[in-house]
Amino acid sequence: MTLLIRDALVYDGTGAPPMRADVAVEGDGIVAVGPDLPLHAAEVRDAGGLALAPGFIDVHTHDDAVALEAEGLHPKLSQGVTTVVTGNCGISLAPSPMQGREAPPPPLDLIGEASAYRFARFGDFLDALRAFTPGCNVVPLVGHHVLRARAMADLARPATEAEVAAMRADLAEALAAGAAGMSTGLAYPPAKHATTDEVAALAADVAAAGRLWTTHMRDERLGVVSSVAETLDVARRSGVRTLISHHKCCGEAAFGLSTTTLAMIDKARETMQIDLDLYPYTASSTVLIETFARDSRKVAISWSEPHPEMEGRDLAEICAEWGVDQATAIARLRPGGAIYHQMDDGDLERILAYPPTLVGSDGLPRDKRPHPRLWGAFPRVLGHYARDKGVVPLETAIAKMTGQTARTLHLADRGRIAPGCKADLVLFDPAAIRDAATYDDPVRPAEGIAGVWVNGALAWAEGRPTGAPRSGAVLAA
Ligand SMILES: [Zn+2]
Repeated sequence: MTLLIRDALVYDGTGAPPMRADVAVEGDGIVAVGPDLPLHAAEVRDAGGLALAPGFIDVHTHDDAVALEAEGLHPKLSQGVTTVVTGNCGISLAPSPMQGREAPPPPLDLIGEASAYRFARFGDFLDALRAFTPGCNVVPLVGHHVLRARAMADLARPATEAEVAAMRADLAEALAAGAAGMSTGLAYPPAKHATTDEVAALAADVAAAGRLWTTHMRDERLGVVSSVAETLDVARRSGVRTLISHHKCCGEAAFGLSTTTLAMIDKARETMQIDLDLYPYTASSTVLIETFARDSRKVAISWSEPHPEMEGRDLAEICAEWGVDQATAIARLRPGGAIYHQMDDGDLERILAYPPTLVGSDGLPRDKRPHPRLWGAFPRVLGHYARDKGVVPLETAIAKMTGQTARTLHLADRGRIAPGCKADLVLFDPAAIRDAATYDDPVRPAEGIAGVWVNGALAWAEGRPTGAPRSGAVLAA
């Protein structure tokens, strides 16, 4: 036995109430779980009654490029995350969309500059990840924007049949290399003109390979109901397993529409595999786009290449200072990103309480002044929403970031504490766990996380990295 964690309050990831138990680990796997295990181990850790859960699975990330950096996944490890799903919202680092382009078209610049897009094929990215060994496990998706940008020079129109065929060829290569699925981001300029038929054709290939489709829907504002209808239409026509990303209702006119969208999803789940995720904040964050800024209570700049001095500043103040309107200010600040305060806590709590909903961070690791979700999403669900507000019981909140997520991702040996599962574990104090990152001070590790093990190796403890060699695996399909 390499590790014995004694006297923990074990939340096994299934949603069952916790039980006092010991957990025995051999190498990278859990070998026994039970009260008073009569085992000797090279290392014994007394949990002193703290909560022990499966390592959290961040189902929605943009960590593609930082997974290849030594400290790139520290924001995630610090929260207890041991697995990240990359390549969301249509944005993936591979295959490279840079032929004939000088800069990656927004929002591809969210995850890296031109030099980051250096992998000709999806398999090359996975090879690089394996050679590097990431700090967390990585579940890689391929993004529709890159498929589209490789097939088309002008993205502001529907694709021709030949262009769809070219995307399908690249998609087939990515799926063969081990992509867990495909993501789309129809709200963004590179895919705005993609028809439902184009998406359904690609989704059918994803379905045939038994993989997952994740979607940042076409409209998350007043048009969110018709966007859910489009999503369900694609799922029905293609038969693809579907994950609706960061479900939300943006802008005051859309507040409350989650009652309608959740009813639609619930009905669809009777015959189709539809899941959804959310991040626990009422502000969104992405690149600077005028339509996203509309309907926001407040917009704060998270990065700006031409005007780094404006990072953290309020867009309305910048407009006043420059004496220009919002569209002009945004044009001057680009390329850049922002935080858009535009949601209602009522919708957020309703979506979080909906049983199928999973938790993701949608953290943007490259932003100079990131949305606090990058460092705080998981502890915020456990502390603020589960413990303090009682929106869901703690064991339910944990299942939404472990066992349920693993089931959606078809990860058979992750997301649960049980013999035969991998030793991805997080030890935390349920009374103290709390997100410390705020909009004003966003780069702060959470409180209350005592230890985080990735494949049996202690990677994070008491607020800092342990310095142990990185131990994440590439969980290719
Ligand atoms: Zn998105």
